[in-house]
Amino acid sequence: MRIGAHVDPTDPLEAAAARGADAVQFFLTDPQGYKSPKPREDAAALRESEVDIYIHAPYIVNVASPNNRIRIPSRKLLMAHARAAAELGAKGLIVHGGHVGKDADLAAGFDNWRKAFEYAEKDGGLPLPILIENTAGGDNACARRFDDLARLWEAVAGFGAGFCLDTCHAFAGGEDLVGIVDRVKAITGRIDLIHANDSKGGFDSGQDRHDNLGNGKIDPDLVVAAIRASGAPAVVETPGGTEGQTADIALLRERAGR
Ligand SMILES: [Zn+2]
Repeated sequence: MRIGAHVDPTDPLEAAAARGADAVQFFLTDPQGYKSPKPREDAAALRESEVDIYIHAPYIVNVASPNNRIRIPSRKLLMAHARAAAELGAKGLIVHGGHVGKDADLAAGFDNWRKAFEYAEKDGGLPLPILIENTAGGDNACARRFDDLARLWEAVAGFGAGFCLDTCHAFAGGEDLVGIVDRVKAITGRIDLIHANDSKGGFDSGQDRHDNLGNGKIDPDLVVAAIRASGAPAVVETPGGTEGQTADIALLRERAGR
């Protein structure tokens, strides 16, 4: 069982050591901006490390958007991040499922996802797995409700898309955590990573507000059960810095019996 944390990008390996983490996830750029990643001085150290590396794409990436001025830069930014993440030996690039906005047709969002993968293939191919993450809210989200996720997967499965299950987003998005791994796998056939987070927001609240395990509205045993059932590595994206995340990682290891 590999457990890690979302950390500051300054020194991810030091952050991993401080938390007793087997894995780290971080941003390569400002998550709210359209800047392309720059080469990192610690690229070789990250590549050679025993710690598993995951990169999270910026939040503003929305390849599902019907708006050209969001969708086109999002595709390019996703590709730039994929290349930069592969340089670091990352196991996957996590990107939110995106949304089409109020009154828009979700079918266009799924088709835009297909086109994003086609664009990537034409542009030399993706150098690492893209892990699409379920979201808590968003106007007409592609990967909040699992019946929508099933339609998204019809569009992207053929391109080898991976899946990242966020427990906070699932709960706040209105998906029951009991038996969730089986329900996801029936759709995607795979779970590549778990984002093991508690939720400040209530069930189906649509609020993307992470909390430390046992502090929010989710029974931590359901998070542990999801990690075990999936067999996937887990990353906590929880508050409280080193102290808060170290406690979350310890709780997961303890309850999972390792
Ligand atoms: Zn997440």
